[in-house]
Amino acid sequence: MNCPKCGEKMEHGYVTAGCTSAGAMTRLEWYDRRPEVPLIGSIPLTKYLPLGNAEGHRCKSCRLVIASC
Ligand SMILES: [Zn+2]
Repeated sequence: MNCPKCGEKMEHGYVTAGCTSAGAMTRLEWYDRRPEVPLIGSIPLTKYLPLGNAEGHRCKSCRLVIASC
Protein backbone atom coordinates (compact mmCIF):
# COMPACT_ATOMS: atom_id res chain seq x y z
CA MET A 1 0.00 0.00 0.00
CA ASN A 2 1.34 3.42 -0.91
CA CYS A 3 0.85 6.49 1.25
CA PRO A 4 -2.00 8.66 -0.03
CA LYS A 5 -0.17 11.74 1.28
CA CYS A 6 3.39 11.37 -0.07
CA GLY A 7 3.27 8.25 -2.26
CA GLU A 8 5.96 6.26 -0.37
CA LYS A 9 5.43 2.55 0.37
CA MET A 10 3.70 2.04 3.75
CA GLU A 11 4.55 -0.72 6.23
CA HIS A 12 1.92 -3.05 7.68
CA GLY A 13 1.47 -3.24 11.44
CA TYR A 14 -0.73 -2.67 14.43
CA VAL A 15 -1.62 0.36 16.52
CA THR A 16 -2.27 -0.41 20.15
CA ALA A 17 -2.51 1.42 23.43
CA GLY A 18 0.30 1.25 25.94
CA CYS A 19 0.31 1.19 29.72
CA THR A 20 0.38 4.03 32.18
CA SER A 21 3.38 4.29 34.49
CA ALA A 22 1.25 2.53 37.12
CA GLY A 23 0.76 -0.42 34.75
CA ALA A 24 -2.90 0.30 33.99
CA MET A 25 -4.02 -0.56 30.48
CA THR A 26 -5.26 2.18 28.23
CA ARG A 27 -7.29 2.06 25.06
CA LEU A 28 -7.32 3.87 21.75
CA GLU A 29 -9.75 6.76 21.70
CA TRP A 30 -10.92 9.25 19.12
CA TYR A 31 -11.65 12.92 19.82
CA ASP A 32 -13.33 15.24 17.37
CA ARG A 33 -11.27 18.10 18.80
CA ARG A 34 -7.95 18.34 20.65
CA PRO A 35 -8.66 16.85 24.10
CA GLU A 36 -7.87 19.04 27.09
CA VAL A 37 -8.99 16.44 29.61
CA PRO A 38 -8.52 12.75 28.68
CA LEU A 39 -11.65 10.56 28.58
CA ILE A 40 -14.10 13.48 28.40
CA GLY A 41 -15.82 13.45 25.04
CA SER A 42 -13.84 10.49 23.74
CA ILE A 43 -15.11 7.77 21.44
CA PRO A 44 -13.49 4.42 22.38
CA LEU A 45 -11.90 2.69 19.39
CA THR A 46 -10.67 -0.39 21.24
CA LYS A 47 -11.36 -2.21 24.49
CA TYR A 48 -9.16 -2.04 27.58
CA LEU A 49 -8.89 -5.81 27.83
CA PRO A 50 -8.19 -7.94 26.02
CA LEU A 51 -5.79 -5.36 24.70
CA GLY A 52 -7.43 -3.84 21.67
CA ASN A 53 -5.49 -3.14 18.55
CA ALA A 54 -6.11 -1.69 15.14
CA GLU A 55 -4.53 -3.21 12.04
CA GLY A 56 -3.20 -0.74 9.55
CA HIS A 57 -0.30 0.84 7.71
CA ARG A 58 2.29 3.46 8.63
CA CYS A 59 4.35 5.75 6.44
CA LYS A 60 7.87 6.20 7.80
CA SER A 61 8.39 9.23 5.59
CA CYS A 62 5.50 11.50 6.61
CA ARG A 63 4.32 9.56 9.69
CA LEU A 64 0.77 9.08 8.40
CA VAL A 65 -1.01 6.11 10.01
CA ILE A 66 -4.10 4.49 8.49
CA ALA A 67 -5.79 1.90 10.67
CA SER A 68 -9.10 0.05 10.97
CA CYS A 69 -10.63 -0.25 14.43
ZN1 LIG B 1 3.64 9.39 3.52
